Amino acid sequence: MNAPLLQVKNLVKHFPIKGGLLQREVGRVHAVDGLSFDLTAGETLGVVGESGCGKSTMGRCLLRLIEPTSGEVWFEGKNVTALGKDDLRAMARDMQIIFQDPYASLNPRMTVGAIIGEALTIHKLAPTKEAYRDRIVELLETVGLNADHMRRYPHEFSGGQRQRIGIARALAVSPKLVVCDEAVSALDVSIQAQVINLLEDLQAKFNLTYIFIAHDLSVVEHISDRVAVMYLGRIVEIAPARDLYVTPRHPYTEALLSAVPIPDPTIKRKRIMLQGDVPSPINPPTGCHFHTRCPKAQHPRCSTEKPELKQAADGHWVSCHFHN
Ligand code: SF4
Repeated sequence: MNAPLLQVKNLVKHFPIKGGLLQREVGRVHAVDGLSFDLTAGETLGVVGESGCGKSTMGRCLLRLIEPTSGEVWFEGKNVTALGKDDLRAMARDMQIIFQDPYASLNPRMTVGAIIGEALTIHKLAPTKEAYRDRIVELLETVGLNADHMRRYPHEFSGGQRQRIGIARALAVSPKLVVCDEAVSALDVSIQAQVINLLEDLQAKFNLTYIFIAHDLSVVEHISDRVAVMYLGRIVEIAPARDLYVTPRHPYTEALLSAVPIPDPTIKRKRIMLQGDVPSPINPPTGCHFHTRCPKAQHPRCSTEKPELKQAADGHWVSCHFHN
């Protein structure tokens, strides 16, 4: 078996909350609370969960756009979490991120050519003006745009086109891993499908590895090889995509899936309505974080003991004391 491209080991990110006259730490937001998983080259891991579950924070910690509180991230055998500034900048070529709102992440005062070309300049990837221009045109065409677009500005494009520009910018440095952080969430359903198809084509062409973050299980179903479900900073279930959709084992995954429409009308799935909102990550519930909303919570253990992620079937890991 191939060595994993990416290994995440007990990753934690807590944001301190400061208060009082002396701005002392008065609490902590437990955004990411001990995540561990591996990723093989060429694989797509879908990561889903309600907003505030820590999935975007996790994505940013992997690239060290924000510094993890503890834990380790290993990429191709190197400890990313221990890299100095220069090594980290070099590694940024291999690990890229595409954001949810392409408009906010594209500088409105720069032309599309300059936006895409910025990384070519930073990483010295285009030795001449011609090489610089040719590479930008190649990238634009790779994502379904054309050479004329390089002189235009982000506001002249639709949401889907802007996301294509964001993808071209990420591809400029020929990355190995791309974190797609809610990359299609702001787009109309038909445009979502086009961008997902494009991402799949690019994956096949460039052997890309994706972490595909979304709040909706139906969005990640098609593109993912495996899916991780997060709740309040923890992975509660991770499994091959088909296993997870056909045989969800965690009560939270069951509830999320029950809201996903099934195209086959002969298959009936009972809707599970979760009570209340996701609790605050400032003071997450004790034991199993999900116990305050879990329809199957049945034992004091649920509120006192943290359930570990255990393998319930081949490659199918679940964090629940009773359902696995
Ligand atoms: Fe529900 Fe208890 Fe399982 Fe948590 S450990 S998911 S509260 S049954």
